[in-house]
Amino acid sequence: MGVVIVFGGKAVYIELDSIFGNEGAGRSFAYDFTLEDELISSPVHVTGKVFNKTGIVRLTADAVYTLSTVCARCTAPIHRDVHVEIDHELIAHAENEDNDFYIVVENMRLDLDALVSEDIFLAMPFRFLCKESCKGLCSICGADLNKTECGCRKPTDPRWDALKNLL
Ligand SMILES: [Zn+2]
Ligand SMILES: [Zn+2]
Repeated sequence: MGVVIVFGGKAVYIELDSIFGNEGAGRSFAYDFTLEDELISSPVHVTGKVFNKTGIVRLTADAVYTLSTVCARCTAPIHRDVHVEIDHELIAHAENEDNDFYIVVENMRLDLDALVSEDIFLAMPFRFLCKESCKGLCSICGADLNKTECGCRKPTDPRWDALKNLL
């Protein structure tokens, strides 16, 4: 079975026959592709391999991209490299279960860019912080509480006071 794997928009023919048929066989790859997203400010660099380990054909890869956004609490710019681990088992025919881990290459074509993109978005959090301990901005004066203590008093929430009285 030969399979066309699409890397970076370019179709590359890979003879998976020899990988499916031979324990220990494998092929590694490294390439870049462009993923259009407002948070992604670099090409996505992918390095990985397809290999047969004890009869199971696995595709593992590391995708790296530069994330550019702002902190959800203090709005400081964030530019950092994000690594996403890709790990799937390739199977020749659809099995009964519906599981993202298994990639069916029945149609002789594997769009690796699409697979990597999906895994990148699945791994992406909904919001980003400059650091876990970011104190954010004061809701009253807007001061960056990581850099200064503005001394504003937080207004107490009357509903919370009512709850405290109950307790
Ligand atoms: Zn922050
Ligand atoms: Zn303040």
